[in-house]
Amino acid sequence: MSALYGTYARSDLAFERGEGMRLFTADGTSYLDFNSGIGVNALGYGDPHVVGALKAAADKVWHTSNIFTIPEQERLAQRLVDATFADAVFFTNSGAEAVECAIKTARHHFFARGEVDRYEIIAFTGSFHGRTMATIAAGGNPHYTEGFGPVVPGFKHLAPGDLAAVEKLIDAKTCAILLEPVQGEGGVSAMPVEFLKGLRALCDKHGLLLILDEVQCGYGRTGKFFAHEWAGITPDIMAVAKGIGGGFPLGACLAGGHVADSMVPGTHGSTYGGNPLACSVGNAVLDRVLGPGFIANVDLMGQRLAWHLQQLQQRFPNYVTEVRGKGLIAGIKITPPVRDFVNRLRRDHHLLAVAAGENVLRLLPPLIVTEADIEEATGKIADAFTALDAEAASTPAID
Ligand SMILES: *Cc1c(COP(=O)(O)O)cnc(C)c1O
Repeated sequence: MSALYGTYARSDLAFERGEGMRLFTADGTSYLDFNSGIGVNALGYGDPHVVGALKAAADKVWHTSNIFTIPEQERLAQRLVDATFADAVFFTNSGAEAVECAIKTARHHFFARGEVDRYEIIAFTGSFHGRTMATIAAGGNPHYTEGFGPVVPGFKHLAPGDLAAVEKLIDAKTCAILLEPVQGEGGVSAMPVEFLKGLRALCDKHGLLLILDEVQCGYGRTGKFFAHEWAGITPDIMAVAKGIGGGFPLGACLAGGHVADSMVPGTHGSTYGGNPLACSVGNAVLDRVLGPGFIANVDLMGQRLAWHLQQLQQRFPNYVTEVRGKGLIAGIKITPPVRDFVNRLRRDHHLLAVAAGENVLRLLPPLIVTEADIEEATGKIADAFTALDAEAASTPAID
């Protein structure tokens, strides 16, 4: 009996070490990792540059406080500003906190302009923004809000895709539109470029802020540094986490200067956010992600993964009904129950994957994945479908 909260349907499997794309149990059994700690371990396991940075940081000051200057934090922020639309960064320990900061920044921007009633955010069904009180409200999934008291007010939801319907929801209280350019947990759906462009145009027309949650789809995963780059648009505020720390708890809220300027002393804070250890690792991860050819290779591997998944669909049309995603946030909508199928892949084929909404098998390999790894993973999925076929054939039909 575990002493932990029972909030997870945990597997008994425990890993002792990792190397590149693979995790190993104490008895040495190897698992191919297309889960990467749910999109976190962007560089896989044991990247020498990142491990070296963490070890070096361990010999220095681990933690001070944000009341002191943290040189590694200043440097990481400047590099993120140089590489993106943003002018200013607030560091957090998680994705939900990055989204919280984004929500607070948007609301406070209008408050500081005297528009105190302008606090409502339009968000989308099928989204996921974290598990804090405000981010479950933003996600709007009743499964996550039920039983936790009054839902934080100020969020309206509709299905993504219909710009006219979005515009109808905009009123004098609306301050921002919030979405994931690629919905991860909801079912790996990439928002169409025209929808993203249209939302940017709606925000410009109505004086709203565009907030993007790139916690899962950002940091190189789609084959651009950030997924919105595919649409040629920029947000006003963006939440980042997961890949940014390569496994060290780190997140960030990035904002344009016209928005960040209302976040003056006292408006927001975090004890740990952006501490020296976290930012030393963050800088090392960024060295790798922005290194020559890294993101271009993610783009190439994303295309190879999509191709191999299409092959799977052709070969097993009764099991695979759709190929989804962008780059290395990919998925297949399958007919067998996805949670059972993820367990089967792990148990019988030593492949780690993730379930997503709409019965989608989600694949989030470390960004260092090779085509040989992709062939191995899709081969394992094919083996699992073949095993399902064999089981169906040997099970007598029930009349
Ligand atoms: C994982 C995730 C979050 C929440 O991040 P945590 O670190 O678990 O708080 C928020 N938004 C998206 C899109 C995510 O994938």
